[in-house]
Amino acid sequence: MPQARDCPKCGGAMAEGFTLDKIQGGVAAASWVEGTPEKSFWTGLKLKGRARLDIATWRCRRCGYLESYAPDA
Ligand SMILES: [Zn+2]
Repeated sequence: MPQARDCPKCGGAMAEGFTLDKIQGGVAAASWVEGTPEKSFWTGLKLKGRARLDIATWRCRRCGYLESYAPDA
């Protein structure tokens, strides 16, 4: 993952961050999950056996554009 980025839309400086998921009892960093979502009665979505990666999201300080990366763990 790049350490510093320029915005592909406007060339402004981008800041690293992450997006939040609301989960039961709090919040967590959003994850990328392989495949399409399948509903599960117990957990909301079936995640068993799926690849999951943390997502890093960069935000342009000038125009607000978001760019996300899910690098291999
Ligand atoms: Zn921008």
